[in-house]
Amino acid sequence: KKLSSGEIRQMFLDFFKSKGHAVEPSASLIPVDDPTLLWINSGVATLKKYFDGTVVPKNPRITNAQKSIRTNDIENVGKTARHLTFFEMLGNFSVGDYFKKEVIPWAWEFLTSDQWLGLDKDKLYVTVYPKDKDAKALWEKTGVPASHIYEVEDNFWDIGEGPSGPDTEIFYDRGQSFNNLAEDDPENYPGGENERYEEIWNIVFSQYNHLPDGRYVDQPHKNIDTGMGLERLVSVIQGTKTNFETDLFLPIIKATEQLSAGKTYGQGGRDDVAFKIIADHARTVTFAIGDGALPSNEGRGYVLRRLIRRAAVNGRRLGIKEAFLYKLVPVVGDIMASYYPEINRNKAFIQKVIRSEEDRFAETLDAGLSLLNQTITGLKAKGETVVPGATAFKLFDTFGFPVELTKEIASDQGIDVDMKGYEENMEAQRTRARAARGDAQSMGSQDKTLMAIKTASKFTGWTDLQDDAKLTD
Ligand code: ATP
Ligand code: MG
Ligand code: MG
Ligand code: MG
Repeated sequence: KKLSSGEIRQMFLDFFKSKGHAVEPSASLIPVDDPTLLWINSGVATLKKYFDGTVVPKNPRITNAQKSIRTNDIENVGKTARHLTFFEMLGNFSVGDYFKKEVIPWAWEFLTSDQWLGLDKDKLYVTVYPKDKDAKALWEKTGVPASHIYEVEDNFWDIGEGPSGPDTEIFYDRGQSFNNLAEDDPENYPGGENERYEEIWNIVFSQYNHLPDGRYVDQPHKNIDTGMGLERLVSVIQGTKTNFETDLFLPIIKATEQLSAGKTYGQGGRDDVAFKIIADHARTVTFAIGDGALPSNEGRGYVLRRLIRRAAVNGRRLGIKEAFLYKLVPVVGDIMASYYPEINRNKAFIQKVIRSEEDRFAETLDAGLSLLNQTITGLKAKGETVVPGATAFKLFDTFGFPVELTKEIASDQGIDVDMKGYEENMEAQRTRARAARGDAQSMGSQDKTLMAIKTASKFTGWTDLQDDAKLTD
Protein backbone atom coordinates (compact mmCIF):
# COMPACT_ATOMS: atom_id res chain seq x y z
CA LYS A 1 0.00 0.00 0.00
CA LYS A 2 1.30 3.42 -0.98
CA LEU A 3 1.66 6.16 1.58
CA SER A 4 -0.91 8.95 1.40
CA SER A 5 0.03 12.63 1.16
CA GLY A 6 -1.21 13.14 4.72
CA GLU A 7 1.02 10.34 5.98
CA ILE A 8 4.02 11.68 4.07
CA ARG A 9 3.62 15.22 5.46
CA GLN A 10 3.31 13.80 8.97
CA MET A 11 6.35 11.55 8.53
CA PHE A 12 8.50 14.52 7.59
CA LEU A 13 7.44 16.46 10.67
CA ASP A 14 7.87 13.37 12.88
CA PHE A 15 11.33 12.70 11.48
CA PHE A 16 12.59 16.18 12.34
CA LYS A 17 10.77 16.10 15.67
CA SER A 18 12.85 13.00 16.42
CA LYS A 19 15.92 15.15 15.66
CA GLY A 20 14.95 17.73 18.28
CA HIS A 21 12.98 20.17 16.12
CA ALA A 22 9.99 22.20 17.30
CA VAL A 23 7.05 21.43 14.98
CA GLU A 24 5.36 24.66 13.94
CA PRO A 25 2.10 25.11 12.03
CA SER A 26 2.04 26.79 8.63
CA ALA A 27 1.86 30.56 8.75
CA SER A 28 -0.67 32.47 6.63
CA LEU A 29 -0.01 32.92 2.92
CA ILE A 30 -0.25 36.66 3.48
CA PRO A 31 3.06 38.12 4.69
CA VAL A 32 3.05 39.95 8.01
CA ASP A 33 5.25 43.08 8.23
CA ASP A 34 7.11 42.21 5.05
CA PRO A 35 6.56 44.67 2.21
CA THR A 36 9.08 42.83 0.00
CA LEU A 37 6.75 39.88 -0.62
CA LEU A 38 3.28 39.65 -2.17
CA TRP A 39 2.81 36.07 -0.95
CA ILE A 40 4.68 33.73 1.34
CA ASN A 41 6.67 31.75 -1.22
CA SER A 42 8.79 29.42 0.91
CA GLY A 43 9.23 28.06 4.42
CA VAL A 44 12.02 30.46 5.27
CA ALA A 45 9.96 33.51 4.26
CA THR A 46 8.17 33.51 7.62
CA LEU A 47 11.34 32.75 9.60
CA LYS A 48 13.54 35.64 8.39
CA LYS A 49 13.17 37.26 11.81
CA TYR A 50 15.13 34.35 13.33
CA PHE A 51 17.75 34.25 10.61
CA ASP A 52 18.66 37.91 10.80
CA GLY A 53 18.70 37.81 14.60
CA THR A 54 15.73 40.16 15.20
CA VAL A 55 13.98 37.45 17.24
CA VAL A 56 15.55 34.53 19.08
CA PRO A 57 13.44 31.36 18.79
CA LYS A 58 12.82 29.19 21.87
CA ASN A 59 14.21 26.20 20.01
CA PRO A 60 16.87 26.87 17.31
CA ARG A 61 15.60 23.78 15.43
CA ILE A 62 12.29 24.30 13.65
CA THR A 63 10.30 22.17 11.21
CA ASN A 64 7.09 22.98 9.36
CA ALA A 65 4.92 22.43 6.30
CA GLN A 66 4.43 25.93 4.91
CA LYS A 67 1.72 26.92 2.44
CA SER A 68 3.41 28.77 -0.43
CA ILE A 69 2.31 30.65 -3.55
CA ARG A 70 4.62 31.34 -6.50
CA THR A 71 3.19 33.43 -9.28
CA ASN A 72 6.40 33.22 -11.31
CA ASP A 73 5.43 29.61 -12.05
CA ILE A 74 1.90 30.34 -13.38
CA GLU A 75 2.88 29.66 -16.98
CA ASN A 76 4.59 26.41 -16.08
CA VAL A 77 1.46 24.90 -14.55
CA GLY A 78 0.28 21.97 -16.63
CA LYS A 79 3.30 22.24 -18.92
CA THR A 80 5.89 20.75 -16.57
CA ALA A 81 5.17 17.81 -14.30
CA ARG A 82 6.30 19.66 -11.22
CA HIS A 83 5.29 23.34 -11.12
CA LEU A 84 2.28 24.59 -9.17
CA THR A 85 1.15 28.04 -8.08
CA PHE A 86 0.22 26.75 -4.61
CA PHE A 87 2.27 24.11 -2.88
CA GLU A 88 3.38 23.08 0.57
CA MET A 89 7.03 23.40 1.38
CA LEU A 90 8.34 20.92 3.94
CA GLY A 91 11.25 22.45 5.78
CA ASN A 92 13.76 22.00 8.56
CA PHE A 93 15.66 24.98 9.87
CA SER A 94 18.65 25.60 12.06
CA VAL A 95 19.05 29.03 13.59
CA GLY A 96 22.76 29.09 14.39
CA ASP A 97 22.61 25.48 15.59
CA TYR A 98 23.42 22.46 13.38
CA PHE A 99 25.03 22.83 9.94
CA LYS A 100 26.21 20.80 6.95
CA LYS A 101 27.50 17.70 8.69
CA GLU A 102 24.16 17.05 10.39
CA VAL A 103 21.72 18.14 7.70
CA ILE A 104 23.16 16.10 4.82
CA PRO A 105 23.01 12.69 6.53
CA TRP A 106 19.55 13.50 7.95
CA ALA A 107 18.15 14.29 4.51
CA TRP A 108 19.58 11.02 3.22
CA GLU A 109 18.23 9.05 6.18
CA PHE A 110 14.72 10.44 5.76
CA LEU A 111 14.62 9.72 2.02
CA THR A 112 16.27 6.31 1.93
CA SER A 113 16.02 4.50 5.25
CA ASP A 114 13.43 1.73 5.32
CA GLN A 115 12.17 3.07 8.59
CA TRP A 116 11.20 6.30 6.78
CA LEU A 117 10.57 6.70 3.03
CA GLY A 118 12.85 3.95 1.77
CA LEU A 119 13.38 5.47 -1.69
CA ASP A 120 15.63 3.69 -4.16
CA LYS A 121 19.12 5.22 -3.73
CA ASP A 122 19.98 4.58 -7.38
CA LYS A 123 17.31 7.05 -8.44
CA LEU A 124 18.62 9.90 -6.29
CA TYR A 125 21.14 12.50 -7.48
CA VAL A 126 22.56 15.55 -5.76
CA THR A 127 24.07 18.80 -6.97
CA VAL A 128 26.58 20.93 -5.07
CA TYR A 129 28.23 24.33 -5.55
CA PRO A 130 31.59 23.65 -7.28
CA LYS A 131 33.65 25.47 -4.63
CA ASP A 132 31.81 23.77 -1.76
CA LYS A 133 34.15 20.83 -1.26
CA ASP A 134 32.71 20.14 2.24
CA ALA A 135 29.26 19.41 0.87
CA LYS A 136 30.63 17.06 -1.76
CA ALA A 137 32.76 15.21 0.78
CA LEU A 138 29.83 14.91 3.17
CA TRP A 139 27.55 13.43 0.48
CA GLU A 140 30.24 10.89 -0.40
CA LYS A 141 30.72 10.00 3.25
CA THR A 142 26.95 9.58 3.60
CA GLY A 143 26.98 7.01 0.80
CA VAL A 144 26.22 8.86 -2.43
CA PRO A 145 28.58 7.67 -5.20
CA ALA A 146 30.58 10.36 -7.01
CA SER A 147 28.74 9.47 -10.23
CA HIS A 148 25.51 10.76 -8.62
CA ILE A 149 27.01 14.08 -7.49
CA TYR A 150 26.98 17.00 -9.94
CA GLU A 151 28.77 20.30 -9.50
CA VAL A 152 26.46 23.09 -10.64
CA GLU A 153 27.47 26.75 -10.70
CA ASP A 154 23.88 27.88 -9.95
CA ASN A 155 23.92 26.28 -6.52
CA PHE A 156 24.38 29.50 -4.63
CA TRP A 157 21.43 31.02 -2.86
CA ASP A 158 21.55 34.78 -3.09
CA ILE A 159 18.83 37.40 -3.07
CA GLY A 160 21.12 40.37 -3.70
CA GLU A 161 21.54 41.54 -0.14
CA GLY A 162 21.35 39.68 3.16
CA PRO A 163 21.84 36.02 4.11
CA SER A 164 23.27 33.89 1.34
CA GLY A 165 25.39 30.83 0.81
CA PRO A 166 25.98 27.73 -1.25
CA ASP A 167 23.24 25.16 -1.49
CA THR A 168 22.78 21.54 -2.42
CA GLU A 169 19.78 20.11 -4.25
CA ILE A 170 18.39 16.58 -4.35
CA PHE A 171 16.84 15.19 -7.54
CA TYR A 172 14.80 12.10 -8.30
CA ASP A 173 15.42 10.34 -11.60
CA ARG A 174 11.93 9.68 -13.00
CA GLY A 175 13.40 7.84 -15.95
CA GLN A 176 13.95 8.71 -19.59
CA SER A 177 10.35 7.78 -20.50
CA PHE A 178 9.06 10.93 -18.75
CA ASN A 179 11.65 13.18 -20.37
CA ASN A 180 10.93 15.90 -22.90
CA LEU A 181 14.57 15.83 -24.04
CA ALA A 182 16.74 13.27 -25.78
CA GLU A 183 19.02 11.30 -23.51
CA ASP A 184 22.13 13.01 -24.96
CA ASP A 185 20.72 16.54 -24.78
CA PRO A 186 23.18 18.83 -22.95
CA GLU A 187 20.37 19.96 -20.59
CA ASN A 188 19.62 16.38 -19.57
CA TYR A 189 21.29 16.30 -16.16
CA PRO A 190 20.12 16.92 -12.57
CA GLY A 191 19.71 20.70 -12.41
CA GLY A 192 19.17 21.14 -16.16
CA GLU A 193 15.89 22.20 -17.78
CA ASN A 194 14.35 18.79 -18.32
CA GLU A 195 11.46 16.60 -17.22
CA ARG A 196 13.52 13.61 -16.19
CA TYR A 197 15.39 14.73 -13.06
CA GLU A 198 12.89 16.29 -10.68
CA GLU A 199 14.25 18.61 -8.02
CA ILE A 200 12.66 17.51 -4.77
CA TRP A 201 14.68 19.11 -1.98
CA ASN A 202 16.81 22.22 -1.69
CA ILE A 203 19.17 22.65 1.27
CA VAL A 204 20.72 26.08 1.77
CA PHE A 205 23.84 26.60 3.87
CA SER A 206 23.14 30.14 4.84
CA GLN A 207 26.55 31.30 6.03
CA TYR A 208 27.38 34.66 4.40
CA ASN A 209 25.97 38.11 4.54
CA HIS A 210 25.90 39.72 1.10
CA LEU A 211 26.71 43.38 1.79
CA PRO A 212 25.39 46.32 -0.25
CA ASP A 213 28.95 46.95 -1.49
CA GLY A 214 29.03 43.45 -2.97
CA ARG A 215 31.30 41.78 -0.41
CA TYR A 216 30.39 38.48 1.25
CA VAL A 217 31.24 38.35 4.95
CA ASP A 218 30.59 35.56 7.45
CA GLN A 219 27.29 35.76 9.32
CA PRO A 220 27.38 35.89 13.12
CA HIS A 221 25.83 32.44 13.07
CA LYS A 222 25.36 29.87 10.34
CA ASN A 223 21.84 28.75 9.48
CA ILE A 224 20.25 25.88 7.64
CA ASP A 225 17.21 26.48 5.47
CA THR A 226 15.66 23.59 3.57
CA GLY A 227 12.61 23.22 1.39
CA MET A 228 11.00 20.15 -0.15
CA GLY A 229 7.83 20.36 -2.21
CA LEU A 230 5.28 18.01 -0.64
CA GLU A 231 3.46 17.47 -3.94
CA ARG A 232 6.69 16.49 -5.73
CA LEU A 233 7.64 14.09 -2.97
CA VAL A 234 4.16 12.54 -2.99
CA SER A 235 4.36 12.16 -6.76
CA VAL A 236 7.69 10.32 -6.44
CA ILE A 237 6.35 8.03 -3.72
CA GLN A 238 2.99 7.37 -5.37
CA GLY A 239 4.81 6.82 -8.69
CA THR A 240 2.72 9.21 -10.79
CA LYS A 241 3.40 10.75 -14.18
CA THR A 242 3.11 14.32 -12.85
CA ASN A 243 2.17 15.93 -9.54
CA PHE A 244 -1.45 15.93 -10.68
CA GLU A 245 -2.22 12.19 -10.46
CA THR A 246 -1.46 12.13 -6.73
CA ASP A 247 -4.12 11.99 -4.03
CA LEU A 248 -3.63 15.76 -3.60
CA PHE A 249 -5.11 16.54 -7.03
CA LEU A 250 -6.90 13.55 -8.52
CA PRO A 251 -10.20 14.06 -6.63
CA ILE A 252 -10.28 17.67 -7.91
CA ILE A 253 -9.71 16.46 -11.46
CA LYS A 254 -12.42 13.78 -11.08
CA ALA A 255 -14.88 16.39 -9.83
CA THR A 256 -14.00 18.63 -12.80
CA GLU A 257 -14.67 15.72 -15.19
CA GLN A 258 -18.16 15.43 -13.69
CA LEU A 259 -18.79 19.13 -14.27
CA SER A 260 -17.44 19.07 -17.81
CA ALA A 261 -19.28 18.21 -21.01
CA GLY A 262 -18.16 14.56 -20.97
CA LYS A 263 -14.43 15.26 -21.01
CA THR A 264 -12.04 12.82 -19.37
CA TYR A 265 -8.59 13.48 -18.02
CA GLY A 266 -5.63 11.59 -19.41
CA GLN A 267 -6.31 11.84 -23.14
CA GLY A 268 -3.20 13.97 -23.57
CA GLY A 269 -3.18 17.34 -25.31
CA ARG A 270 -4.54 20.73 -24.35
CA ASP A 271 -7.59 19.43 -22.44
CA ASP A 272 -5.30 17.72 -19.92
CA VAL A 273 -3.51 21.03 -19.42
CA ALA A 274 -6.90 22.64 -18.75
CA PHE A 275 -7.72 20.01 -16.09
CA LYS A 276 -4.35 20.62 -14.43
CA ILE A 277 -4.67 24.41 -14.50
CA ILE A 278 -8.13 24.18 -12.94
CA ALA A 279 -6.98 21.76 -10.22
CA ASP A 280 -3.98 23.91 -9.39
CA HIS A 281 -5.86 27.21 -9.37
CA ALA A 282 -8.73 25.72 -7.32
CA ARG A 283 -6.26 25.01 -4.52
CA THR A 284 -4.50 28.36 -4.80
CA VAL A 285 -7.60 30.53 -4.69
CA THR A 286 -9.20 28.40 -1.96
CA PHE A 287 -6.21 28.77 0.34
CA ALA A 288 -5.53 32.41 -0.53
CA ILE A 289 -9.12 33.47 0.16
CA GLY A 290 -9.11 31.28 3.26
CA ASP A 291 -6.17 33.36 4.47
CA GLY A 292 -8.01 36.61 3.81
CA ALA A 293 -7.09 37.70 0.26
CA LEU A 294 -9.89 39.00 -2.01
CA PRO A 295 -10.06 39.50 -5.78
CA SER A 296 -9.37 43.06 -6.93
CA ASN A 297 -7.39 44.89 -9.59
CA GLU A 298 -4.18 45.31 -7.63
CA GLY A 299 -1.44 43.29 -6.00
CA ARG A 300 -2.61 40.06 -4.39
CA GLY A 301 -6.18 40.70 -5.45
CA TYR A 302 -5.12 40.94 -9.08
CA VAL A 303 -3.34 37.59 -8.81
CA LEU A 304 -6.55 36.02 -7.50
CA ARG A 305 -8.62 37.62 -10.24
CA ARG A 306 -6.15 36.39 -12.84
CA LEU A 307 -6.23 32.83 -11.47
CA ILE A 308 -10.03 32.67 -11.23
CA ARG A 309 -10.49 34.09 -14.74
CA ARG A 310 -7.85 31.81 -16.18
CA ALA A 311 -9.60 28.83 -14.58
CA ALA A 312 -12.91 30.05 -16.05
CA VAL A 313 -11.47 30.21 -19.57
CA ASN A 314 -10.03 26.72 -19.16
CA GLY A 315 -13.42 25.54 -17.91
CA ARG A 316 -14.98 26.82 -21.14
CA ARG A 317 -12.46 24.72 -23.03
CA LEU A 318 -13.84 21.67 -21.24
CA GLY A 319 -17.37 22.70 -22.16
CA ILE A 320 -18.31 24.10 -18.73
CA LYS A 321 -20.73 26.96 -19.29
CA GLU A 322 -21.48 28.15 -15.77
CA ALA A 323 -19.64 29.12 -12.63
CA PHE A 324 -17.95 25.95 -11.41
CA LEU A 325 -14.69 26.72 -9.63
CA TYR A 326 -16.50 27.42 -6.38
CA LYS A 327 -17.88 23.86 -6.48
CA LEU A 328 -14.34 22.53 -6.15
CA VAL A 329 -13.76 24.24 -2.80
CA PRO A 330 -15.29 21.41 -0.70
CA VAL A 331 -13.25 18.88 -2.69
CA VAL A 332 -10.07 20.79 -1.81
CA GLY A 333 -11.35 21.09 1.77
CA ASP A 334 -11.86 17.34 2.11
CA ILE A 335 -8.43 16.48 0.66
CA MET A 336 -6.76 18.88 3.10
CA ALA A 337 -9.08 18.34 6.08
CA SER A 338 -6.62 16.50 8.30
CA TYR A 339 -4.00 19.26 8.28
CA TYR A 340 -6.02 22.35 7.34
CA PRO A 341 -9.51 21.86 8.86
CA GLU A 342 -10.12 25.62 8.52
CA ILE A 343 -10.84 25.26 4.81
CA ASN A 344 -14.00 23.24 5.36
CA ARG A 345 -14.92 25.50 8.27
CA ASN A 346 -14.73 28.59 6.04
CA LYS A 347 -15.94 27.01 2.84
CA ALA A 348 -19.22 28.91 2.59
CA PHE A 349 -17.36 32.23 2.60
CA ILE A 350 -14.61 31.05 0.23
CA GLN A 351 -17.22 29.70 -2.18
CA LYS A 352 -19.19 32.92 -2.10
CA VAL A 353 -16.15 35.01 -3.00
CA ILE A 354 -15.12 32.73 -5.86
CA ARG A 355 -18.64 32.40 -7.18
CA SER A 356 -19.22 36.13 -7.29
CA GLU A 357 -15.96 36.65 -9.18
CA GLU A 358 -16.94 33.86 -11.60
CA ASP A 359 -20.44 35.27 -12.13
CA ARG A 360 -19.05 38.71 -12.77
CA PHE A 361 -16.60 37.46 -15.37
CA ALA A 362 -19.28 35.24 -16.95
CA GLU A 363 -21.09 38.39 -18.09
CA THR A 364 -18.23 39.36 -20.40
CA LEU A 365 -16.30 36.13 -20.94
CA ASP A 366 -18.09 34.89 -24.06
CA ALA A 367 -18.16 38.30 -25.70
CA GLY A 368 -14.47 38.78 -24.93
CA LEU A 369 -13.55 35.35 -26.25
CA SER A 370 -15.46 35.99 -29.45
CA LEU A 371 -13.75 39.37 -29.93
CA LEU A 372 -10.38 37.74 -29.43
CA ASN A 373 -11.16 34.81 -31.72
CA GLN A 374 -12.44 37.13 -34.45
CA THR A 375 -9.30 39.22 -34.11
CA ILE A 376 -7.10 36.15 -34.40
CA THR A 377 -9.02 34.82 -37.41
CA GLY A 378 -8.72 38.25 -39.06
CA LEU A 379 -4.98 38.39 -38.39
CA LYS A 380 -4.42 34.94 -39.78
CA ALA A 381 -6.35 35.79 -42.96
CA LYS A 382 -4.00 38.72 -43.48
CA GLY A 383 -0.93 36.67 -42.62
CA GLU A 384 -0.31 38.80 -39.52
CA THR A 385 0.73 37.54 -36.11
CA VAL A 386 0.23 40.31 -33.54
CA VAL A 387 -2.95 41.28 -31.66
CA PRO A 388 -3.02 45.12 -31.61
CA GLY A 389 -2.45 46.80 -28.25
CA ALA A 390 -5.81 48.58 -28.49
CA THR A 391 -7.63 45.23 -28.76
CA ALA A 392 -5.75 43.77 -25.79
CA PHE A 393 -6.64 46.90 -23.84
CA LYS A 394 -10.30 46.68 -24.80
CA LEU A 395 -10.33 43.05 -23.73
CA PHE A 396 -9.00 44.12 -20.36
CA ASP A 397 -11.01 47.27 -19.88
CA THR A 398 -14.37 46.20 -21.26
CA PHE A 399 -14.29 42.42 -21.00
CA GLY A 400 -12.16 41.88 -17.90
CA PHE A 401 -9.43 39.82 -19.58
CA PRO A 402 -6.15 40.15 -17.68
CA VAL A 403 -3.60 40.81 -20.43
CA GLU A 404 -1.63 37.71 -19.45
CA LEU A 405 -4.74 35.67 -20.24
CA THR A 406 -5.11 37.31 -23.65
CA LYS A 407 -1.46 36.56 -24.34
CA GLU A 408 -1.88 32.94 -23.36
CA ILE A 409 -4.99 32.34 -25.47
CA ALA A 410 -3.35 34.04 -28.45
CA SER A 411 -0.11 32.15 -28.02
CA ASP A 412 -2.00 28.82 -28.10
CA GLN A 413 -2.66 29.79 -31.71
CA GLY A 414 0.85 31.04 -32.44
CA ILE A 415 -0.15 34.71 -32.13
CA ASP A 416 1.58 37.46 -30.10
CA VAL A 417 0.18 40.53 -28.35
CA ASP A 418 1.55 44.04 -28.88
CA MET A 419 2.40 44.66 -25.21
CA LYS A 420 3.93 48.06 -25.85
CA GLY A 421 0.71 49.20 -27.52
CA TYR A 422 -1.28 47.71 -24.64
CA GLU A 423 0.78 49.66 -22.10
CA GLU A 424 0.37 52.87 -24.11
CA ASN A 425 -3.41 52.46 -24.12
CA MET A 426 -3.34 51.78 -20.40
CA GLU A 427 -1.19 54.84 -19.76
CA ALA A 428 -3.43 57.04 -21.89
CA GLN A 429 -6.39 55.93 -19.83
CA ARG A 430 -4.56 56.70 -16.59
CA THR A 431 -3.76 60.17 -17.88
CA ARG A 432 -7.41 60.77 -18.78
CA ALA A 433 -8.47 59.57 -15.36
CA ARG A 434 -5.93 61.83 -13.62
CA ALA A 435 -7.05 64.82 -15.64
CA ALA A 436 -10.65 64.04 -14.78
CA ARG A 437 -9.83 63.80 -11.10
CA GLY A 438 -8.04 67.15 -11.27
CA ASP A 439 -11.11 68.76 -12.86
CA ALA A 440 -13.38 67.20 -10.31
CA GLN A 441 -11.31 68.57 -7.44
CA SER A 442 -11.14 72.08 -8.82
CA MET A 443 -14.89 71.93 -9.44
CA GLY A 444 -15.38 71.47 -5.73
CA SER A 445 -13.78 74.79 -4.95
CA GLN A 446 -15.68 76.68 -7.61
CA ASP A 447 -18.33 79.20 -7.07
CA LYS A 448 -21.77 77.77 -6.30
CA THR A 449 -23.41 79.52 -9.20
CA LEU A 450 -20.97 77.93 -11.58
CA MET A 451 -21.58 74.55 -10.00
CA ALA A 452 -25.28 74.97 -10.50
CA ILE A 453 -24.97 75.32 -14.26
CA LYS A 454 -26.47 72.12 -15.61
CA THR A 455 -25.43 72.60 -19.21
CA ALA A 456 -21.77 71.73 -18.89
CA SER A 457 -22.24 69.29 -21.73
CA LYS A 458 -18.57 69.40 -22.78
CA PHE A 459 -17.41 68.14 -19.43
CA THR A 460 -16.44 64.51 -19.98
CA GLY A 461 -14.68 63.98 -16.68
CA TRP A 462 -17.42 61.94 -15.06
CA THR A 463 -17.50 59.23 -17.67
CA ASP A 464 -13.72 58.97 -17.45
CA LEU A 465 -14.02 58.81 -13.71
CA GLN A 466 -16.46 55.97 -14.02
CA ASP A 467 -14.01 54.08 -16.21
CA ASP A 468 -11.37 54.72 -13.61
CA ALA A 469 -13.63 53.38 -10.88
CA LYS A 470 -14.09 50.22 -12.90
CA LEU A 471 -10.33 49.85 -13.11
CA THR A 472 -9.63 50.05 -9.44
CA ASP A 473 -12.69 48.56 -7.73
P1 ATP B 1 12.51 24.38 -9.79
O1 ATP B 1 13.98 24.49 -10.18
O2 ATP B 1 11.94 23.02 -10.02
O3 ATP B 1 11.68 25.50 -10.36
P2 ATP B 1 13.20 25.82 -7.44
O4 ATP B 1 14.68 25.60 -7.41
O5 ATP B 1 12.71 27.09 -8.03
O6 ATP B 1 12.47 24.58 -8.18
P3 ATP B 1 13.23 26.21 -4.60
O7 ATP B 1 13.13 27.68 -4.59
O8 ATP B 1 14.56 25.59 -4.38
O9 ATP B 1 12.59 25.66 -5.97
O10 ATP B 1 12.15 25.64 -3.55
C1 ATP B 1 12.40 24.51 -2.72
C2 ATP B 1 11.54 23.33 -3.13
O11 ATP B 1 10.16 23.70 -3.22
C3 ATP B 1 11.88 22.77 -4.49
O12 ATP B 1 12.97 21.88 -4.40
C4 ATP B 1 10.59 22.05 -4.85
O13 ATP B 1 10.51 20.78 -4.25
C5 ATP B 1 9.53 22.96 -4.24
N1 ATP B 1 8.98 23.88 -5.25
C6 ATP B 1 9.51 25.04 -5.70
N2 ATP B 1 8.73 25.65 -6.60
C7 ATP B 1 7.64 24.85 -6.74
C8 ATP B 1 6.46 24.94 -7.52
N3 ATP B 1 6.22 25.97 -8.33
N4 ATP B 1 5.56 23.95 -7.41
C9 ATP B 1 5.77 22.89 -6.59
N5 ATP B 1 6.85 22.76 -5.82
C10 ATP B 1 7.80 23.72 -5.88
MG1 MG C 1 11.63 27.49 -9.72
MG1 MG D 1 15.79 24.66 -9.02
MG1 MG E 1 15.94 24.88 -5.84
